[in-house]
Amino acid sequence: MSNPLSDRILNMSTSATLAMAAKARELRAEGKDIIGLSLGEPDFNTPDFIKDAAIQAINDNYNGYTPVDGYQELKEAIINKFKRDNKLTYTLPQIVVSTGAKQSLANVASVMLNKGDEVILPCPYWVSYSDIVRLNDGVPVEVKTSIDTDFKMTPEQLEAAITPKTKMVWFSSPCNPSGSLYSQSELEALAEVLKKHSNIFVVSDEIYEHINYTDKPHASMASVDGMFDKTITVNGVSKAFAMTGWRIGYIGAPDWIARACNKMQGQITSGANCIAQRAVITALNADPSVVDYMIDEFKVRRDLVLDLLSKIDGFKTNTPEGAFYVFPDVSSFFGKTLRGKTINNATDFSLYLLEEALVATVTGDAFGNPNCIRLSYAASQNEIIEAIKRIKEVVN
Ligand code: PMP
Ligand code: GLU
Repeated sequence: MSNPLSDRILNMSTSATLAMAAKARELRAEGKDIIGLSLGEPDFNTPDFIKDAAIQAINDNYNGYTPVDGYQELKEAIINKFKRDNKLTYTLPQIVVSTGAKQSLANVASVMLNKGDEVILPCPYWVSYSDIVRLNDGVPVEVKTSIDTDFKMTPEQLEAAITPKTKMVWFSSPCNPSGSLYSQSELEALAEVLKKHSNIFVVSDEIYEHINYTDKPHASMASVDGMFDKTITVNGVSKAFAMTGWRIGYIGAPDWIARACNKMQGQITSGANCIAQRAVITALNADPSVVDYMIDEFKVRRDLVLDLLSKIDGFKTNTPEGAFYVFPDVSSFFGKTLRGKTINNATDFSLYLLEEALVATVTGDAFGNPNCIRLSYAASQNEIIEAIKRIKEVVN
């Protein structure tokens, strides 16, 4: 009998980040001492003042269905956040709150893409972009970048990737998985290309905005002259406030796109969780410096990871400027046999590290870059030191 499941799901890949996290959990349950550097999830607790707001919301009987696009108070807090942090002026009909930025992205793809529409994805891109695009009948068009250019797409590369079928460009800055940041002038140069094509829209995923180790202010594509009406700004609280499980993300977008997302969400999940939304009002109204202690710690860990990896032959790294990942090029191991196992590609290498070093990482293939692996340093310094010590032992 042929598989009764839909072609849609059969053609979709499993999220490599979540699959690796599940595999690590499974091996731990078997008693193996796995160090997880695979999942992009802050290892901090949600700050107390946010937890208190959630407890208050429960006691205040916030238990009913929420407006599909989010509580008005939350949308106002998001508007203020966009003004305060990004100099962007959105209005209430331009904001939609969703169950995580992942749902925001899925909404946008489903309301914007028709069969065969092309979506340019500078590589490496966040793992779910290409499957979300394909799920909605879009065609991902990968633009290859390399570690030598800090994994950034140039205006020339963007221009060369555009065809009459191009509908959108999706990117994250700070980037998951490379940690690269596009500066204001780099965004302006990309925008010069995009402005020549009135029918191309941009998804600017800024969920790592606050995890920025540079003196450069965060740059938002929607703030570039002429781009506001062509850009969907995606953001959320998972990373900056250590709230991954609370599941709140949001967009600021042209109102006709926001209205369409609202309509879509109304038939799929309805409004996001009531308690989480109340807590996020408090989170977004706070000064962003309340999470500086997490960012300071991530920076110490980034430097630690880079220092330790620099002492292993065969790992080539750039210096990530944001987010909490390093994305070393490990292609020098391809074709080698280590402990009787032949490493042909990044997936073999990542599996080798899991089996021999008991360290979970994610293959670069999942992010559209076959030469690299991703290590998340959202783990304690002791775990990082031990993990990289084990990696060194099994590769040298
Ligand atoms: N975008 C990027 C770049 C991410 O790394 C993540 C990771 N979770 C998301 C979006 C989705 O975030 P969430 O659904 O937790 O808000
Ligand atoms: N964004 C995180 C990551 O890239 C969480 C996992 C996920 O949502 O896929 O690891």
